[in-house]
Amino acid sequence: MNQSCELNMKKPKNTPFYERPAFEYAIAKSESQNCLGSGEALVQGCLCLRISNIHNEVKTKTYLWVRYGNIMDFRKRLLEVHRTAPLDFLLKSTVKLMAVRKGQSCVWCEESMEQGSIEVALVNANDSIAMKKVLFLHDACKDDLADALLFWLMPPSN
Ligand SMILES: [Zn+2]
Repeated sequence: MNQSCELNMKKPKNTPFYERPAFEYAIAKSESQNCLGSGEALVQGCLCLRISNIHNEVKTKTYLWVRYGNIMDFRKRLLEVHRTAPLDFLLKSTVKLMAVRKGQSCVWCEESMEQGSIEVALVNANDSIAMKKVLFLHDACKDDLADALLFWLMPPSN
């Protein structure tokens, strides 16, 4: 997509994001992380949807990013997670089915998740940074998130 189109977008105020604490707009501060929608590196200064485990009872917060212009691609990955090809499943996909790790809560409904159950994982699969980051949501919650993304996509008012 056009590399510059989101560079001049300001961080919007009072958006529906704030009804879900794990989701907010943020400006990408580096290019060391990948977009969950495209799998490619973020562009510094770009408006993004940032997803975090702010609701989890963990010391280290995890942040994952979706470029504003790639939110529909992220949504497609969510809706197609059950059709992910085996190779993608293991290697490259930023949205995949995975066993839930200890102490995780769903980024959508904020409820704690059962360790070991197979749910939807959001992964910074191709990042150049060494540490892989994962956030989880219930498989049963992914369609609600996908619906919400359509509303959240409305152009932010500055
Ligand atoms: Zn959930």
